[in-house]
Amino acid sequence: MPFRALGLHANILKAIHESGYTEPTPIQAAAIPEILAGHDLIGIAQTGTGKTAAFTLPLLNRLATSANPSQRPAIRALILAPTRELVVQIEENVKAYAKHISIGIATVFGGVGERPQMQALRAGTELIIATPGRLLDLMGQRCGDFSRLEYLILDEADRMLDMGFLPAIKRVVAALPKKRQTLLFSATLSREIETLTHDFQYKPKTVQIGRRSNPAETVTQFVYEVPRHLKPNLLSHLLKDPKMDTVLVFTRTKHGADRVARRLEASGIKCATLHANRSQNQRLRALADFRSGAVRVLVATDIAARGIDVDGISHVVNLDFPMHAEDYVHRIGRTGRAQAIGDAISFVSEDDHAALRSLERFIGRGIIRKRADGFDYNAPAPLNAPGEERQRTFRGGGRSEGSRGGGQRSASGRGGAGPGGSGGNRGSRGGSGRRDDQRRGPSGGDRAR
Ligand code: AMP
Repeated sequence: MPFRALGLHANILKAIHESGYTEPTPIQAAAIPEILAGHDLIGIAQTGTGKTAAFTLPLLNRLATSANPSQRPAIRALILAPTRELVVQIEENVKAYAKHISIGIATVFGGVGERPQMQALRAGTELIIATPGRLLDLMGQRCGDFSRLEYLILDEADRMLDMGFLPAIKRVVAALPKKRQTLLFSATLSREIETLTHDFQYKPKTVQIGRRSNPAETVTQFVYEVPRHLKPNLLSHLLKDPKMDTVLVFTRTKHGADRVARRLEASGIKCATLHANRSQNQRLRALADFRSGAVRVLVATDIAARGIDVDGISHVVNLDFPMHAEDYVHRIGRTGRAQAIGDAISFVSEDDHAALRSLERFIGRGIIRKRADGFDYNAPAPLNAPGEERQRTFRGGGRSEGSRGGGQRSASGRGGAGPGGSGGNRGSRGGSGRRDDQRRGPSGGDRAR
């Protein structure tokens, strides 16, 4: 089916064409007509399926073709997303698709100065893309009149709930007009999500692409069983293969990410890091360098696991095996995006076996085991290792990073949810972008609520 069969405006079709898209992805083909017809919509789809365009294209179409009833500047649409990275990425998409129409767009998220964001809200910018924490903060300071809002989109709703944003979302939504079109996108459909749709939506249509929790079908998955202390060596060994040209490596903690990056740099492999200790500018630079190919490897914590859109990631490497199956699905969804193919490689040591088994149950199939040719699996743990290496090898059976970081999770469960979830870890514990977003003060982002 061609895009033009969907009933989109000619100027939007032109931008789609310039983005290089030839035909709608399944989620786009299913969702766009429903949204254009004015229905509330629940979209169940993982990242990588083209879901951002599935909601932004018809949204832009509606904004462009229906006049602002008041003629005065007004905030007409709000997109809420869990992390600042995702907000920036949605903005990039929207700007590309809105190239030939005239729509005011502004972003609101923590970690950067509030003033321009306040100005954009006060000016009545038509489309606001925001993280819930900072937006609520600014709304609390009476910035922005939302009384003429017509469209609300919750992107990665499951992740926002995981990250403890439910109270903030509820307060934001309570300040919006009841009569509006509400779209909710989520990778999974849980009872909590169903409650959210019941509370926020009116007779929503549901569009579901792919089986729930099924890793992107285009991704080939492998496991390398390897002693924990040899994981970095194995990574360097595999990176000798030039086919691994755009590689996203996941570690459990930000310190782990820095360590791995240092080792790779020392062996001449250009890499960047992405985690919660990095400033907003550093993160954007890391992503830009990775996107442009200036660096071959991006080492990240789970902060990058959701939503980050880098075309052509050839390999995702789980250097630290994810603690939760859902995280695995999101991590490997970074490769094999849209119609591309990619490989997901997981390093599994003794203490990861239980997590691997539960992952295989979760995805309903076994993952192929591989062994690297020419790699010395019997190399001993370094006796005179630097302090950090010693710690990793001898503390608590290798769970040291995980337990120090809580992964990126709270003791209380999924997602390190809720302001209590940092377990006293200063709110920047590697994981999700949430804590930066929720906790920093006015100069550094949102406060916890
Ligand atoms: P998303 O699932 O929204 O994160 O999108 C994943 C990737 O697919 C992004 O790089 C989009 O630019 C790309 N994409 C979205 N729609 C299409 C399409 N119809 N054809 C080809 N690529 C697309």
